[in-house]
Amino acid sequence: MTSSPFDTFDREHLWHPYTSLIAPLPAYKVAHAEGCELILSDGRRLIEGMSSWWCAIHGYSHPVLVHAAETQVRNMSHVMFGGLTHEPAIQLGKRLLQITPPSLTKIFYADSGSVAVEVAMKMAIQFNPQKTNFLTIRSGYHGDTWNAMSVCDPITGMHGLFGQALPKRFFVQAPQCVFHSSWDETDFAPMAHALQLHRETLAAVILEPIVQGAGGMRFYHPNYLKALRKACDKAGVLLIFDEIATGFGRTGKLFAWEHAGVEPDIMCIGKALTGGMMTFSAVLTSDRVAERVCSSEAGCFMHGPTFMGNPLACAVALASTDLLLSSPWETAVHTIESNLKSALKPAANFPAVADVRILGAIGVIELKKPLDMAKAQRFLVEHGIWLRPFGRLLYTMPPYIITPEELKKITHVMLLMAEHAETFQA
Ligand SMILES: *Cc1c(COP(=O)(O)O)cnc(C)c1O
Repeated sequence: MTSSPFDTFDREHLWHPYTSLIAPLPAYKVAHAEGCELILSDGRRLIEGMSSWWCAIHGYSHPVLVHAAETQVRNMSHVMFGGLTHEPAIQLGKRLLQITPPSLTKIFYADSGSVAVEVAMKMAIQFNPQKTNFLTIRSGYHGDTWNAMSVCDPITGMHGLFGQALPKRFFVQAPQCVFHSSWDETDFAPMAHALQLHRETLAAVILEPIVQGAGGMRFYHPNYLKALRKACDKAGVLLIFDEIATGFGRTGKLFAWEHAGVEPDIMCIGKALTGGMMTFSAVLTSDRVAERVCSSEAGCFMHGPTFMGNPLACAVALASTDLLLSSPWETAVHTIESNLKSALKPAANFPAVADVRILGAIGVIELKKPLDMAKAQRFLVEHGIWLRPFGRLLYTMPPYIITPEELKKITHVMLLMAEHAETFQA
C-alpha cells in the first residue's frame, strides 16, 4: 500500500516557508526521521543533505537527545525565567562560556535565531542610546523579524518587498576575497569608509563571520574580520557576529570567529544549539556591554520573552553540545569537507556552473541560472535525496553523522543536476 506523500488539508490551509498558498510548491509528508534519513509517509527514504537548515548536526532521533528531552519533560518542561532559575539553564550557560569567545561572559537565552538578532540589536542600542543605526555587508541573512530583516541583503535577503517599511540601514559591498584566496587589503576599503563616515550614528556592525548563509552561501577571507575588529574599536562601534548558521562545527571550527581569532562584542547562536530538536537561541556579550546596558536609564535590558530560558530547550541544548564535544566532530567535518571537495570539484567544468565552493561540512554548486524549485525538488526526491536548492544555489550541509556512502549519493545527484541544469531551469 502506498499513500500519497502530499496532504490536501496541508496544501489548502498551512503556510510553508516562502511558498504560495495559492499555487504552493509540494510539501512532502514525513512520517519519521532517524539518523541521516527522512522517511516519507509513502515509505520512501530520503538521505538528508540539509540538516533541516543547519540544525540536525547529529541526525534525527538521536538516543542521547531523545533521552535528555524525555527526562526533562518528566521533571519540568517549562517554568518562567522571571524570578526563577533552574539547573539546565545554569549547566548550559557554563558549557557555552567554555566554548565561546573568552571575552563573552553574559548569556541571554532567546526563542529563535531571529529573536536572538533582535536581542543583539537592542543590546547595542541600549549600550549607547545616542547611536541608533547599524552597518552590515551585502548578501547577509539574519532572520525574518523586523530588525533582523532590516540588516538582511536588501535584494538576496528575501525581504526586498518590505524595503519601504523597514528602518534604513547602511550596507557595504560584501567581502570579495574568498576564504581560500590570498588577502587583498582593498577588500576592506568600503567597510572602512562607511565606518568612518557613519561612526557618530552607528550602534554596531552586524554580520555573519566567514560564511554568509541564506543570503548567498558565500565564504570570505578571515582577514576581513581582523580588519573589521580594529576599525570598530577605532570608531567606537560595537561588533555583532551572527553565528546562528556557522556555529557548532559547521565550518570546521567550533565557531567561525575562530578562523580569524577575532572576538565580537555580541554573538548570536541558534539553529544547531539544540541539535535540531527544537527552537532555541542565545546571545552572548561581554562584561563591558552588559554593564553599560544595565547602567542606562532603564537599569536593565528591556527584553524578556515568555519562554526565555525554557528548561526543556536548555536540557536538550546541553545534551547536544556535550554530544558534539565528546564526539570526533572535527574529524567528521574534515572528512565531509574532503569528500565534498573531491566529489563536487568536477562540476566546476560544467557549462551551467558558475562556481563550486566547499568549507567544512558545506558544499555549494552555484549555477549560472536559477533552478525551478518544483522540478529540482521532484528530481531530488525521486533520487532518494533531500536537498532544498534556492535560486542559483544547489548546496548541501549534511548531518555530521553522514556516512561516506550516503554523502556520495548526495554529491552524485548534485553533479547530475549541475551537468543537466537546463532540465531543471524554467
Ligand atoms: C537562520 C538564521 C537566522 C534566523 O534564525 P531563525 O531561527 O530562523 O529565526 C538568523 N541568522 C542566520 C545567520 C541564520 O542562518
